[in-house]
Amino acid sequence: MIDLNICFSCNNNCVMCPIVRLGYSKTQCEIKEGPSTEDIKQMINSLDENVSEISVTGGGEPTIRSDIFDIMSCLEKRFPKAKKRLLTNARMFCYADFSKKMTDLGLKSVAVPLHAGEEELFEKITQAKGSFIQTIEGIQNLLRLGVEVEIRVVVHNLNYEALPRIAKFISLNMPSVSNVVFLYFNIVGSAALNKKQLIVRYSEVVPFLEKACSVLKENELDFILYHFPKCVLSEKFRGYAEGVTTERKRLFFKEECNQCKYFSDCSGIWRSYKKFVGAEELNPL
Ligand code: SF4
Repeated sequence: MIDLNICFSCNNNCVMCPIVRLGYSKTQCEIKEGPSTEDIKQMINSLDENVSEISVTGGGEPTIRSDIFDIMSCLEKRFPKAKKRLLTNARMFCYADFSKKMTDLGLKSVAVPLHAGEEELFEKITQAKGSFIQTIEGIQNLLRLGVEVEIRVVVHNLNYEALPRIAKFISLNMPSVSNVVFLYFNIVGSAALNKKQLIVRYSEVVPFLEKACSVLKENELDFILYHFPKCVLSEKFRGYAEGVTTERKRLFFKEECNQCKYFSDCSGIWRSYKKFVGAEELNPL
């Protein structure tokens, strides 16, 4: 799979964003211009033609680029068979004609962050009024068009107690999503600036996380856990922790982890977690 980074601006301003947003208003943030249309087309044309999956992303929201149709069209022409996946907050997909055009241009799959199943908490996290209803309508439009939708729940102090409610919300309102990913947040960028309101220990999160997983299981929804070390989870859920999803240098393991039976298949903790919280919760198994 290849990542295509095309946008650094966003129409949300999430408190736990790993990028620092400068010069933002309450409804929109911008950091700097992304690459030009021509630069992106050049990037696309330089990619290996045998690539099977392309993930369109960036540090921001790709769908707010005014040339997004042009970019999708270029991708579709060069890689008609590749699976095109967008990392998006789905707000633009609340517009039915936008959704239709994107699927006509070959969009097959999206990954969408869902911060809460309630408007107030969701928008406390995105700091963008109107984002909740647009995201939910966007997800539902995408599902109606047959797009594969992965839901990503970034976990931190503001929403960990709401995890079982989020799981119920997904099960009730969008049961045809392909899977749900729970990720413990990385305390960098804006998340580091907001760390006082965001940091929560794994030991506090896990009971709520496991309850949420049980709700998804009962409703036959698939789920995965990213950046949860296996030793903080109960045995029943260790198999859902997916191991390493980033460069090893961004992760921390205790020296004793070498002796742990899960060492080769464990995410450890973010280096940022070690720095701001510590590593006392890790216990080799
Ligand atoms: S002790 Fe270390 S290797 Fe073992 S599960 Fe915990 S973090 Fe992973």
